[in-house]
Amino acid sequence: MDQNGFTLAENRTALVSIRIPAEDLSNPASPVLTAAKELRYYLGRITAASIPVLAADDPEGPAKAISLGAASGLDVSSCSEDGFIIEADSDSVKIGGGKRGVLYGVYDLLERLGCRFFTPLCEKVPTDPGLSIPPIRAKEEPVFEFRRHNYADIEQYPRFAAKRRFNGAGRIPERLGGNLTYAMHVHTFDQLVPARVYGKDHPEYFAEVNGKRVTTDGGRTQLCLSNPDVLALVIEKTREFLRSHPGHRLMSISQNDWGGNCTCENCKRIDEEEGSSSGTLLRFVNAVAEALEPEFPDIVFDTLAYTYSRPAPKYVRNRKNVCVRLCSIECCFCHPFDACDDESRGVMRPDGTRSNFITDLREWGKICDRMYIWDYTTCFAHYPTPHPNWRILARNAQLMAENNVKGVFEQANGASRGGVDFNELRAYLVSKLLWDPYCDIETHRREFMEYFYGPAAEALDEYLNLLCDTCGERGDHVGFNDNPLHGFLEEDMLDRYNALFDRAAEAVKGDPVRLARVEKNRLSIRWVALKRKTMLRGEYDAEEINRFFGDWKAFGLSRIDEWCNVETTHRALLEGKWRGVEYFDHWTGEAPEDLG
Ligand SMILES: [Zn+2]
Ligand SMILES: [Zn+2]
Repeated sequence: MDQNGFTLAENRTALVSIRIPAEDLSNPASPVLTAAKELRYYLGRITAASIPVLAADDPEGPAKAISLGAASGLDVSSCSEDGFIIEADSDSVKIGGGKRGVLYGVYDLLERLGCRFFTPLCEKVPTDPGLSIPPIRAKEEPVFEFRRHNYADIEQYPRFAAKRRFNGAGRIPERLGGNLTYAMHVHTFDQLVPARVYGKDHPEYFAEVNGKRVTTDGGRTQLCLSNPDVLALVIEKTREFLRSHPGHRLMSISQNDWGGNCTCENCKRIDEEEGSSSGTLLRFVNAVAEALEPEFPDIVFDTLAYTYSRPAPKYVRNRKNVCVRLCSIECCFCHPFDACDDESRGVMRPDGTRSNFITDLREWGKICDRMYIWDYTTCFAHYPTPHPNWRILARNAQLMAENNVKGVFEQANGASRGGVDFNELRAYLVSKLLWDPYCDIETHRREFMEYFYGPAAEALDEYLNLLCDTCGERGDHVGFNDNPLHGFLEEDMLDRYNALFDRAAEAVKGDPVRLARVEKNRLSIRWVALKRKTMLRGEYDAEEINRFFGDWKAFGLSRIDEWCNVETTHRALLEGKWRGVEYFDHWTGEAPEDLG
């Protein structure tokens, strides 16, 4: 027996029990009960012993205990919902924390014992029948209160979302700690005051652009935010919606997903005074939040600082129940926010000057005590395209932390139902960074690569480095929605990338699981090569196109493009179009026929 640690089992017989309060033991919705079951499951796998989960006051079972939640006796009054404390010595192990904190603490303990939760379908769990828990004194709090990405692994596997400590993703049941959900998620103006309903009788509710009210049916307009009737209507519609959709934490009152903000005399005057179109917007959202606070004291009213409303206002400040989500959609994603010299990515202020993202982040950081970031981690026009953002993930997360950001949503390619372009790795790194932007990200990256890709890791590392180096050398800037035309995607480089994939495949040729992972990532190179060959050189090979889409689907992948299904993308390439989205009716937003 290890004198310095807490030994769990001997000869496959448990020496300890897991103890939780009796009320958690009898409550299937208790995250503390889930924490106990998870601990039993993983410790059982490690030690091959069956460690009992018992009520704290149960006289049966081993007296030596791992105590969770209130059974730990730890003072957790300083912990947030996600924070936790672990104390371990040779006599006892205690884990306490907030609503989700105990479960997070259990996963943290398991990671300290050598477990790794890389993806929902790939975990590393050591086998060690003589395992003993070393002395631990730890207290952890996340840097960001709201953490979400939407890679498919989180949306489809809530248990994995809890393991990766995402509290804003999809729908996480109460037994896994629940999550911070939006009643309405984003771009809600047209849901609250539809142009097709009010446009005809009340053109004054809608944005005036170039001297004319835009009341287009289908919603390509914004609201006139200085109109008191619009305010009253939004308050009432929001009240109705929240009454019929209880149980949420956030409610978005936000501009539609296009430009065209109101420039009527009143809106223009306020925006000019505030130096940004966020002026009218934030005054409006504050007024909604103030009116609804008495009935909904726990709801946070959220809005966007997005495109025309991105720069911070000079005077108005968010109420305590208002959150501002600053969006990085114009940014370049191969340079950190503070190190890109592409001036064309700035947005226009009302006075005609331009503001870049890092300025907006810093300005909002000074004035806003609840700022979330909506950031982008893939190419939305071509999900498979290699997205060379590997070297900016940590720096950007640190810039967010240093500028008073409280929550982060990393928008990804959930719609493609899985990983290509190393998205499993990206999702793992994002999860580590949103918990702690200053974590040892290189170690996390290396551990993932070595386990997930095995002997192929070396060649694949070389590929990812070559990708980022070439991007720098060829002076590329990379947007969220580009066609695959960048210098780092030219044919000479595609050949070199392919050679590295050949090397990676050779290294794992006897390991079908890892070989499949290599070939799935190679789809990125195949896609770009096919696209460039067909579209740029007119070298049209229907059989090759059909083969690509067959392989894409065989890996369980779905959409290639944010806006249309994979069949439409397939048809588009056969017909020589850059994107299936070209079939869309941009005015009505009507999608092409969906084959399912
Ligand atoms: Zn107006
Ligand atoms: Zn750049």
